[in-house]
Amino acid sequence: MLNEAAISDFRAMLRGQLIAPGDPAYDEACRVYNGMIHKKPRLIARCTDVADVISSVNFARENDLLVAIRGGGHNAGGLGMCDDGLVIDLSPIKYTRVDPTARSVTAGGGCTWGDVDHATHVFGMATPSGIISTTGVGGLTLGGGVGHLTRKCGLTIDNLLSADVVLATGEFVRTSADENPDLFWALRGGGGNFGVVTAFTFKMHPIDTIYGGPMLYELSDTADVMKWYRDFIPAAPNDLNGFFAFLTVPPVAPFPQHLHMKKMCGVVWAYAGPLERAEDAFKPIRDFKKPALDFVGPLPHPALQSMFDALYPPGLQWYWRADFVNELSDAAIPQHIRFGEKLPSMHSTMHMYPVDGAASRISKTETAWNYRDTKWAQVIVGVDPDPANNEKIISWTKSYYDAVHPYSAGGAYVNFLMGDEGEERVKKTYGDNYERLVAIKKKYDPKNFFRVNQNIKPS
Ligand SMILES: Cc1cc2nc3c(=O)[nH]c(=O)nc-3n(C[C@H](O)[C@H](O)[C@H](O)COP(=O)(O)OP(=O)(O)OC[C@H]3O[C@@H](n4cnc5c(N)ncnc54)[C@H](O)[C@@H]3O)c2cc1C
Repeated sequence: MLNEAAISDFRAMLRGQLIAPGDPAYDEACRVYNGMIHKKPRLIARCTDVADVISSVNFARENDLLVAIRGGGHNAGGLGMCDDGLVIDLSPIKYTRVDPTARSVTAGGGCTWGDVDHATHVFGMATPSGIISTTGVGGLTLGGGVGHLTRKCGLTIDNLLSADVVLATGEFVRTSADENPDLFWALRGGGGNFGVVTAFTFKMHPIDTIYGGPMLYELSDTADVMKWYRDFIPAAPNDLNGFFAFLTVPPVAPFPQHLHMKKMCGVVWAYAGPLERAEDAFKPIRDFKKPALDFVGPLPHPALQSMFDALYPPGLQWYWRADFVNELSDAAIPQHIRFGEKLPSMHSTMHMYPVDGAASRISKTETAWNYRDTKWAQVIVGVDPDPANNEKIISWTKSYYDAVHPYSAGGAYVNFLMGDEGEERVKKTYGDNYERLVAIKKKYDPKNFFRVNQNIKPS
């Protein structure tokens, strides 16, 4: 049993705050990005450094407490939080260090991608991440990392050079291609299963100004757009990335008034090649069909990365379903149209992120991320500010998923799983890499101490 004396000793060991139920900071500290999640941990340790993380891991192990690791708190199923256990909250470990000569950036385990973009952009550099800058570096990286630069630079894990990890024993290790390479392999896609990552070092790329933004089409053009898009993307140069989306145009500037609250389809583009060749790269796109809205042009990389932040503030209700997709088939398209026409709220959407190009040049066994030969990571999200609409957004998401899942490749990107989808789904996602992950889990975390995640059981 956890007693007050033990808690008090633990508090004295920490440089960061230890928050318990009844503390004024408790309710706020329990909140994660998805407003649908309401977990109530026994304690939250706001760790400021590696020493705090080691103390937290040791305290939880010695007191037999369930542990959740919180990075950016964005996880769909709220896997950065737990009921009754100890949350190791890394958010105060927020520092970055750019090495312009080595072209690398180190980020503390509690950084968001906005922190990293801010640090690298001043050097005219970028590291591939996702599409919303408030997402945590920790969770996004450990699950793989899919975003605007995937086709040019690969997944985020393909750019990870090393990581500092606190293991279940409380031991601190460094991992890279040369140090603890088995652990380094598992971290690249295996999620938070193996330890607490207190620092990540990534490769940077000379990417400064992007030529990108959204291009929107009438919903009645969806079949044409989808058919053109599925052929165009795999043949496009890797400098060019574009994810397909169904969306409702927000009723705010700079969107023109006649499009406000209109359901549309579109592609969010990001061209990261030489700027003087950008217009040429977009010629076939603009020749295909005149979009109803063309907001594509030069903009700083961090501006593209944070373009949708304001639209998706923390605290909205989110329900997720996802699949990998090898082929956007003729049979699947009418199903997409059926549900695209019925977007249940302004924030709800479906995205198809390309995972070909540079991401597909890495072999299936080089990292734990198995679906290297698939073409898209698809995600359907029902989103709304009002919990009263939860039934509506959940039902739309599930029905849409049921309708298109038969045309999918089987597994799904772990970072797009809701957290309640079962062991089989996780196994399917890791495919042939699953057994190797189990062996590494057995070596580094045989008691499954880190299990608030898309769990890989040690046996
Ligand atoms: C609005 C939104 C947009 C998104 N866009 C993208 C996108 O473009 N591309 C993409 O790939 N994904 C995207 N995601 C999914 C995102 O990658 C996952 O939600 C991811 O889990 C978020 O990481 P986090 O650190 O913010 O989450 P948390 O909830 O803090 O953690 C998620 C999981 O990761 C583990 N974890 C986190 N940090 C660490 C660490 N330092 N050490 C060990 N384990 C850790 C936790 O234990 C937990 O299991 C998006 C999510 C949202 C909500």
